[in-house]
Parts: sequence; C-alpha cells; structure tokens
Amino acid sequence: MQNMEQRFKSMSIFDFQRKFPDADSCLSHLAALKWSEGYSCPKCGHGSSCQGSSPHSRQCSRCRYVESPTAGTLFHKLKFDPLKAFWIVYFLATNKKGSSSSELARKLELGQKTCWRFKRKVMKAMKSSGNYLITGTAEVDETVFGQQEEGVCGRENAKKKLVVVGIEKKGKSVSRLYARVIPHIPHADAACLGGFMKDHIDPTAKVTTDQWTGYGPVAKDFANIVHIPSGKKGDNFPELHRAIMMLKGWLRGMHHHVEDLQDYLDEYCYRFNRNFMKERIFDNLMLRMIKAPPCPIKNISG
Ligand SMILES: [Zn+2]
Repeated sequence: MQNMEQRFKSMSIFDFQRKFPDADSCLSHLAALKWSEGYSCPKCGHGSSCQGSSPHSRQCSRCRYVESPTAGTLFHKLKFDPLKAFWIVYFLATNKKGSSSSELARKLELGQKTCWRFKRKVMKAMKSSGNYLITGTAEVDETVFGQQEEGVCGRENAKKKLVVVGIEKKGKSVSRLYARVIPHIPHADAACLGGFMKDHIDPTAKVTTDQWTGYGPVAKDFANIVHIPSGKKGDNFPELHRAIMMLKGWLRGMHHHVEDLQDYLDEYCYRFNRNFMKERIFDNLMLRMIKAPPCPIKNISG
C-alpha cells in the first residue's frame, strides 16, 4: 500500500521527463488516449484502420481517411512542438496557482501569445463536468467581482460581475468549490441561481444562503435550505468568505479580461477540487483535452 507521502505526491518533473522525452512520445500518448476504446472512422463510421502516413495517425481501411491523434481534440491544429504543449498542460495542472502565459513563454521558449492561446484552450478542458455534487453541508452566497467604474454603482456596473459561489464544508475546511457568473439580464438572477444550485448541489444537502430574494424560487428544490440574514457577511459565512477572498486574490494576479471571467473561475475551481488527487491531475486534464471538441481561437475572447 502507498504511504501518505506517495499518495499526495504530484507527478514530479522527473516523472514527466521520463514519460515524455520527445514529441514522438507525446503523439504516441495522445493516440493511446484517443483510441483507448477502439477506433471509429469520423467520416464513414468504419471500425477498422491501419497505420496512417503521418506519425501515430490512423487510416480508415474503407474510405482511406487519415486522422491524426490531435484531430478533433483541444490539440487540434497545434502549431508548435507537442512536447511544449504537454509541458503547458503539466504546469497548469500541477502548479498550485497555475501559470501565467508570460511565465510559460519564458520557461518553454515560446511566444507569449502562443502560450496564451494554448492556455486558454486548456482552461476550456477545466470546465466542471457536473459529475460531482456538493453533498452534506453547503453554503452559497453571491459576490461582486471587478473594479469600480466611475459614476456607476451597484450590480448594474458593466465592469463588475455578479458571481455566485457555493462551497461544501467539512468541519472548518472547504472540500469543494464552484463559482458561476450571473449574467446581466433583468429578472434572470433567480433562474441562473437555481441553475447553478441544481448543477452543483445535491438536493438533500443542508444548504445555507442569505436572505436575498433571488434564493426564494430555488428553495422548493432543496429540502434542507436555510436562509440567514446576511448582516456582516464574514461573520455568518467565514469559510465561504475566506474561499472567495483567496479566489479574488488569485484573479487579481491574472490580468484577465472581464469577458473571460467564467473560464478563470473554472480553472481555479478545477485545481481546487482536485487538490486531493495531485498524482492523477495531469492524466485527468490530458483525458479532458482529448475528449473536448476543438476550440478555434476565434471563439476565445481577449
Ligand atoms: Zn472511413
């Protein structure tokens, strides 16, 4: 049996270098992941293939279509060394706070823009699967992100975003965290809030929220929901507000565009919720990169 140290150890730089010494080993890994459940031709659906002309590609034995291991994944049309792309995934998965694109550019001898673009694709793979609900004790609160705009105040401020944050509490610590931007659509707050809570919280969980009217309509879906006066928020939800403070602190260092806020929230929550599976986080993220559809750069704002 593994001891504690091994269990909580992340994949070291040496482990990574042994596993991925060159571009060929990366392509071979992508091919193994991509066709782990067998081959099916994306053009004609035929189930058998032979080795294609380019490295680690498959060629359909009926229609002759050649498919590369990167096609149809978030590695689609990768324009630089796959080994460097693997390093980006590695740093984003294993660095506690992620990595900025300029830091990645410096470490990997790539352009900052190249790193930024690829990092934004990796972030798409970090979106919550919705498979792991908050159970037991949950707390939900809304908070405002972003700078104060001159002469505009409150939730109507366009540079500010209203974000709903939910946590799972185990004793005094936070074991799970989700966050979603509530869009500026009049009277849609309650529906968005309800959607967030249904997507991320088990209906039997003991949920505590403040008394904002937005929570009214979702109460019927949660048998054990309690609304408490917001008052001085830090007093009522100390763990939740500490988690929000840490999230905001991380975001301040990221220089993101306001339009991208949801992707950054997803990135933060992805790593936070996998803190207990450090060793497998790289494999998990790589699998998500393969399963996710391509994300053309024109679909990424900023
Ligand atoms: Zn075919």
